[in-house]
Amino acid sequence: MCFRPASAAASGPAECPECHKTIEAVDGIELKNCPFCGCDFTPYLNGTKPVPGAPAAPAAPGAPAAPGAPKPPSAPAAPKAPGAPKPPSA
Ligand SMILES: [Zn+2]
Repeated sequence: MCFRPASAAASGPAECPECHKTIEAVDGIELKNCPFCGCDFTPYLNGTKPVPGAPAAPAAPGAPAAPGAPKPPSAPAAPKAPGAPKPPSA
């Protein structure tokens, strides 16, 4: 069930990323660490540490195959240079 608190504004994470306890953020007070396990939220808040379990930024699934220039339809080989004309037989 996707519980999304209405006031998940700019305070700390709604759930401790480490002990996974729900943190009741108080308006105006930005929690810097978990009241339960005491972990530091700062790296999570400023993005230097990814929140475990949070949907990480989707990794680029490989560069999409660029259409690129269409291949030329099997260009015919350069026509062979005609051999030197045979000298007319006398
Ligand atoms: Zn915690």
